[in-house]
Amino acid sequence: MKLFRKISRLFIKFILIVLIIGFLSALIYAAPSIWNRVHTYPKLDKIKSEIEATYKKPFDFIKQTDYKGVLHAHSYWSHDSRGILEEILPAAKKAKLDFIFLSDHEHSQLDSFPRGYHGVYDNIIIESGTENRGLMVNPMKSGILDWDQPLDTLIKQVTDSGGLVLYVHTEEKHAWENPDYQAMEIYNIHTDFIDEGDDLLPFVVNSIINGNKYRHWGMREIFDEQIVIMARWDSINKFRKVIGMAAVDAHSNQNLRARYTDDGMVEWVGPNAKQISLVEPGWKEKLLLSESDAGGWGFKLELDTYYHSFNFVNTHIFCNEFSNVNIKDNLVAGHAFIAFESLANAKGFQYFSTNSTNELSAIMGDSISVNSINKLKAVSPFPVQFKLIKDGSVVNTVKDSYTYEFDPNQEPGNYRIEAYLNFNDELFPWIYTNPIYVYEGL
Ligand SMILES: [Zn+2]
Repeated sequence: MKLFRKISRLFIKFILIVLIIGFLSALIYAAPSIWNRVHTYPKLDKIKSEIEATYKKPFDFIKQTDYKGVLHAHSYWSHDSRGILEEILPAAKKAKLDFIFLSDHEHSQLDSFPRGYHGVYDNIIIESGTENRGLMVNPMKSGILDWDQPLDTLIKQVTDSGGLVLYVHTEEKHAWENPDYQAMEIYNIHTDFIDEGDDLLPFVVNSIINGNKYRHWGMREIFDEQIVIMARWDSINKFRKVIGMAAVDAHSNQNLRARYTDDGMVEWVGPNAKQISLVEPGWKEKLLLSESDAGGWGFKLELDTYYHSFNFVNTHIFCNEFSNVNIKDNLVAGHAFIAFESLANAKGFQYFSTNSTNELSAIMGDSISVNSINKLKAVSPFPVQFKLIKDGSVVNTVKDSYTYEFDPNQEPGNYRIEAYLNFNDELFPWIYTNPIYVYEGL
């Protein structure tokens, strides 16, 4: 009996030690995420609100309206998303978007347009489009697209008939020399995510610990400057105009969810919107599922949400009117810049040139003779560090300023602006504009 008691006491001790070691190692593993929650992210939020307090509305030098939105987003039409309007629209409103250009995965070789969401919903334009074979295609009119034809034929067919063709996932191989595609992703959240490597556990742990409250900073953990892609973009622009745009690649599909089906079963859905199981509700379901949300989900453990993707990076396009075609036309013209919106709302930012009589002579995306340029100018609603990039090289930097001015001194080249926000002496890239293309005077 004594021996038995001794053994059971030893056993309990052993279990306790194992539990303590387990708890301590979990704590050590989670420590960086806990530190983020109690220190880093509140501090970043504080700096963000200090920056917001310095807001000064710039004068509207550019007469067109800046509409901001997202390109490259997926809905229920894609095999790897379940997103419906009831989820997409509130997220788009919260992120103050004016437009969403969708890029749903095709269903078959013959792709019909429009389909899925298409039109104006509560003052937000949603344009249907497809992502396939490294392209995002928005034909902008009804018809059928045959994906089973040579890519260059397809690109020419779409662009010749008023549609939009973008190169997506630009970390991958593309026919860069193709003369007809109009734009390329210079930033894609997914591209940035995959360069994190295989060990995603720290990112997941951080996302869970920092949840909804600091998800905007949790997502920023993946951010890296896309140096190779930007260099490629600059080098293509030396030969022909290619517009840079940002992709959110939103799917709202990195999560664990459950919903009641119409016939009273429970469907569990995992990453990439894949069904895990369809079961009769048991104790687990009864414990975890509550009333369905707008998307029909009774349980949700989320990593990426539509809102946080929509608010991460936007493409701002200067337009003459609020229509899908005008947004597309002005994107193709390059009247656009990209902005990391979770850092600060970029409306008001402008980049343009003036002539010798100080009148506006070109805006980002325009081509202009050196004779029509006296100054390159930019204005920002917050003080930023401006960098002027000419043909891929930094040629001028101005710190801590609302305004920027540079005399290109009759030098032809492609001039674009990068603007950086100062977060506690760390400069975060905030805005990348399209270039003003300055050519030799005639
Ligand atoms: Zn995609």
